[in-house]
Parts: sequence; C-alpha cells; structure tokens
Amino acid sequence: MKIDSLPLPISLRTKYSALGITELYPPQAECVDAGLFERKNLLVAIPTASGKTLVAEMAMQKEISDGGKCLYIVPLKALAAEKYEDFSGKEVKVGIATGDPDQRDEYLGRYDIIVATSEKTDSLLRNRSEWLKRVSLLVVDEIHLIGDPSRGATLEMVIAKLRYQNPSMQIIGLSATMGNPEELAKWLNAQLITSEWRPVDLREGVYHNGAIHFHGTERIVPTPKKDDDLNLLLDTVEEGGQCLVFVSSRRSAEAYAKRAAAVLKKKSADLDGYAERIAKADTTPSGKVLANAVKNGAAFHHAGLPRPAREAVEEGFRKGDIQVIASTPTLAAGLNLPARRVIIRDYQRYEAGVGMSPIPVMEYRQMAGRAGRPRLDPYGEAVLIAKDRGAVDRLFEEFIDAPAENISSQCQKENELRNHLLALIATGFASTRSEVEGFMEKSFYASQKATHRRLDRNIGKALEYLVQSGMITEEADGSMWGTQFGVLASRLYLDPETASMLREMLEKQETFSTFGMLHLLCMTPDMFRFYLKASDERLVDQVFSERGDELWCEELSEEFFAAVKTALVAEAWCEEVPEEIICENFGVGAGDIHAVVENLRWLMHAAGRIAHEFAPRFDADVRDLEIRIENGVKAELLPLISLRGIGRIRARRLFNRGITTPEELLAADTRDVVAILGNVLAKNVLEQAAKKTGKTMEIAELPEEKNETVPATASEEAKPQKTLFDFGE
Ligand code: ADP
Repeated sequence: MKIDSLPLPISLRTKYSALGITELYPPQAECVDAGLFERKNLLVAIPTASGKTLVAEMAMQKEISDGGKCLYIVPLKALAAEKYEDFSGKEVKVGIATGDPDQRDEYLGRYDIIVATSEKTDSLLRNRSEWLKRVSLLVVDEIHLIGDPSRGATLEMVIAKLRYQNPSMQIIGLSATMGNPEELAKWLNAQLITSEWRPVDLREGVYHNGAIHFHGTERIVPTPKKDDDLNLLLDTVEEGGQCLVFVSSRRSAEAYAKRAAAVLKKKSADLDGYAERIAKADTTPSGKVLANAVKNGAAFHHAGLPRPAREAVEEGFRKGDIQVIASTPTLAAGLNLPARRVIIRDYQRYEAGVGMSPIPVMEYRQMAGRAGRPRLDPYGEAVLIAKDRGAVDRLFEEFIDAPAENISSQCQKENELRNHLLALIATGFASTRSEVEGFMEKSFYASQKATHRRLDRNIGKALEYLVQSGMITEEADGSMWGTQFGVLASRLYLDPETASMLREMLEKQETFSTFGMLHLLCMTPDMFRFYLKASDERLVDQVFSERGDELWCEELSEEFFAAVKTALVAEAWCEEVPEEIICENFGVGAGDIHAVVENLRWLMHAAGRIAHEFAPRFDADVRDLEIRIENGVKAELLPLISLRGIGRIRARRLFNRGITTPEELLAADTRDVVAILGNVLAKNVLEQAAKKTGKTMEIAELPEEKNETVPATASEEAKPQKTLFDFGE
C-alpha cells in the first residue's frame, strides 16, 4: 500500500518520502484496512520495530486535519521526550506534559498532540483538566503494561476514565506481542492486528562452545578470548556490526563495559569527544568507568546515569562509534537503539522470596526485538548463552519457542483499588456506591475474570478503608463524596496510605525532626527505597542505636531499615556532602541520588500541603526542608538560596566569604560579590536583595570581574531536574 494513496496531508507524505517511507509495511497496511482512518479502535500487537509509531502518527495526523485532538500515552518520561521529537516539525502542534502532579496544565489544551506518561495523565484527570474532555484520539504506547505489577492499574484506570469521559474517542493501543491480545482487544472494543512480520530478518539462537545454534543451522564463532560474551561481541564487530548486551544488574553492566573496552581497544577523536562529555556530566566513580570504557568503544546504559551521559552514549552508538552497550533489562522496553546482535546474557533474575527465576518471555522478546537495524543490517541476531550443552534445548523451549505470557489486570490489588476508587470519588467520576461498582464493571479487571460478587466485595473493602481513614464520607442514601483530606490526597497523587501516614505522624509530633521527617517520607509506599546490602547493615544499626530518638516511625521491618539508608542518602545531600562521596559511602550512583531527590521533592511538597491543613505549626520547618532537598543545601544557606540565580555552589562560596544573608550581601564589598558571581549576576542578585530587604542601593557601578573568578559550571549549579514520574528503572 503506497503512502501516497492515504488520506494524509501532502506535507506529511512529502516528509515521509524524504525519510524513505513510501510504502506501508504489511502490518501497517492491515491497520489501514481495519479502519485506522475511519476512527476504528485498534489493538496493534506486533513485534518491536515493525512500525507501530508510524501507524499512530498517521492516525493522529488524519484526526488533527479533521479538527481533532490527540493524547499519546507513554510509560517513561524519557520516551515522552523521544516521541515529542518524532512528532514535532510536521505542521502540527506538539506538547509534552510534565510538571507538578497537582497542576491542571491548562496550557496543554493549545496543542494538537499531547505526549504524557500514564501517571501524569492520571494526575491531570484528578485535577480535572478541561482539555482532556476534548481528546478525540487516544494512543496508548506499550499498552501491554496494563499487566505490570507496579504501574498497570494506573494505566487501566486512565484508559477507563478517558473512555467514560469521551465516549466517542478513538483508541489505538500499541503493544508488544502478548499471550492474550484477544482479551485486551475485547475490552477496548478494538480490532486486533497481530503479525510476526519484521522489517529485518531476526535469527534467534543459543550459543554454546564456539557456535550459535539456530533452528536448523549453526554459526561458528571464533574464540580468541576465554569469555563467551566477549567472543560474541568481537565476532559481530569484526563483520561491521554492533552489539547490545543485556545483563541483570547495573554492576554487571559496568563490569561488562570495562571488559569489552579492554578487548575492543578502539580509538578515535569522536570517542574521545563522547568520553569527555560523559566525564563532565558524571564525576562519580561510575561516570569515570563509563568515560574510560567509551574511549575504547564500549559503554553501559542504565537508569543510574545522569541524562547528559546517557545521551552521549546513545548518540555515540547511533552514529556507529560506540560498538557495544551493556544494559539492564528494564531499558529493553523503551530504548530505541537497535543493533545487529543482541546478546541476552542474564536471563535469570533474583526475585525476593523466590530466588533466581527466568525472566518473562515477553521481556525476552522485547530484548531480542532490538536486533537488526532496518536498512543498515542485513539481519539481526538474538543470542542466549548456554552454560552447558543440556541448556541449549532448554533455552529454546523456555524462551525462543515459548509463547508470550498472558497479561492480567492489576486492579485486583487492595492498595491499587483504594487509590483509584478514592480518585474516582474525589474527582466526581462516581458519587454513589452503585456508580463506583458500575464504573468498575467496565474495567479490564471485570472483563477478564472478576465475578460480580468478588468485585463488589473487594470494592466494599476498599471503600471501608477510605471511610475509616477520613477520606470519603457515605450518607445513608448511598451518596459518597471525598472529604477535604481525601480530595487533597487524590490531587496530590498520593497513595491513600501515604496520605494517612503523613497526616497521622505530623499531627502526633510535638517537635520537628529533619531526619524523622525524611525517614517518614522514605517509609511511605510512594517512595522508592534502596536495597540494604550486607555492608550497609552496620551503618544502619549504628544510626538506629545513636539516633533512634530522632526517628518518628517505630515499626522495625525490612522497610524501616531500607528507609533509614534512603533517608541517610537524602540527609547527606541536604548536608552538602559531595555526590562522589555519597556514592562511595552508600554504594549508589549519581542518578540514584537524583532519583531520591526528585521523589522526595514531590513527597515533601505533598507533606507541606498536609502539614498546612493538619499540623500548621510545622509549616515553616517543612517548607525549609523542601527547599533544602530541592537545592541540596544546609539550613544555613536558606537565606541566600532564596535569591534567583544562586544555587548550592554559589551560595556556599558567598557563605564561606562571610556573606550569609541578603542583608549582608548588600553590606558586603561589591568586589567580593562580583568575584564570586560575576558582573551580570551580581547586579541582578543585589537588586533582588535590595527589593527583599526593602533597601535601596545604587548598583550601577560594579567593579570589573577579575580573571580568577571561577564561575560555577552549568552542571554544578543545575538543580535536580523535576521528573516526578520517571520510572527509569
Ligand atoms: P515500533 O514503534 O514498532 O518500534 P517504529 O514506528 O519506531 O517501530 O519504526 C521503526 C523504524 O522503521 C523507524 O525508523 C521508522 O521511521 C521506520 N519505518 C516505519 N514504517 C516504515 C515504512 N513503512 N517504511 C520504511 N520505514 C519505516
């Protein structure tokens, strides 16, 4: 089917043709035949890289030319940015939804396509963004994540709410191959498009003892080195291809990159350039390992890396300079970085309470699907490594020939149900018990397996919890509404349990404790916690015995100790301990510190709102701590940090010169101020200080900047980026 025969704007067809896209791939043509342009709902469950995004884009462009508005939901923030780039520059207005969870972001209504994560969309729905009612085409990327234990329920409820609100909306679900696509299609009232077609031939095989065994054939792999995973790399590089290696942990990814660099030994000015960018962006030990490996053509990639370092790796790989990336499996889903050979080295994973168990087949397929760069590679190869001869057949059975798993609704879980029922009631989607039940009867959960009785029983339990914790009230006539507390919790996007914990603890305390507050936040179900390693135990025990009286929570559980470690990292950040030292002391990466900071910023903000309602005596303490977390500063820098343009580094420099407040800034020798801030910023900051303190000051003449001024570098002064819903890993 020719692109030119499709009902698309001419400018778009010209763009496609310039990209070499003139004819639809077979599964894309099937989508058109199934009613893509007639506003039919579709579930497109086809392999990675077979052109799903293009299907969605064509539908969106057509919808916009008919006056519609499109919402494109993605699972990761990093993917939102990627899709934003993809859709931009094609004569439609594209927006990306980020920002604080309790905002409506009405400005997004101006765009034709809005790209957002499912969590952000949920929070927009909770805050009743008006423009959402005008969405006429919903695209859900990676819709199989409805079955994801941690995030599936939100995705399911977002789809259900949008459908309820906009009954005539077209829905296009894009999915990896799964076991039961028919069930999902039925729920979506969608035509199902499945296909095994791929743009590049994919060969899947198992390596053992010098050869890759494929179905029916073999490929001999030279073995100059003793390690299989390195020989497989060298073999591909030798014939001009690149490799992706999936391993189970960040540490393994780093170790592999180091070993690969030692055998590849590539050298080029481009590689040096990437290494330099990385070294600048990430000064931690892990950043150094990466920069050194990249110099020799090898890299790793995981969510612990700061974004500029990740970007350098991606660019270096896309341009063909970096030969191999070792990556953790969670990145397989989003990362659009195909390579000729994908080596799935670690196909077992440790699961708490279960031990080592094989990764899901769906996940294997997503990794394998990264093999083969369209138009660049003659074929793609996905290779599993067998430990012994007997494992070869087993790996074929377990992964290559195995059917993908079925996905199932996650709304049966108690905590998910509470959370989402609160949102339904607080946002006015349902205002009686029977409306709640009616809404849930249309869920994927109900359509899949729940009997009425079981569904109603679970709903009953969740509603009881919400009534008891003071979040909703129910009248004798069955009508329900969210209390002030319930509405606040829902708008702040908090798990009801988090909101209750914060309220209860803040109400109970007589005095404020910074460490107690941080630890409390780290105990909530909305905070991610570091795992405790054996080496952490002594440190955590010590803190527990020496600083027990600062802690507010008392339950001694595994979470409690993990929360102590996480709170210690946050505290170190607020005490201005340099990032490299934090990384070393706690065995974490720079990206982890940022993840803690981002997560805590949101929770501190929420805690501030709850304190304001229920424990206003802590208003100032909570606000100060929020600013300290945001900026990574000790309390003594708070007066200076309040000035725009002054971050942690500059504030510290001023402070160390004895300038500790805006007043002292005005009184100081301006030469000192200029020496630290530079001329332009000094003027601006002095003006702010004058305004703040109500003083007037003549600051027209500032002394010349001296050469020895060391300006804070951009990355030093950069505040942690606000990426509240980034579930990188
Ligand atoms: P998916 O979303 O299924 O992973 P994409 O839509 O990202 O796949 O497509 C993968 C690549 O194939 C992109 O670079 C895209 O431009 C290209 N592509 C998609 N459809 C076609 C087509 N019909 N002809 C040529 N290239 C295409």
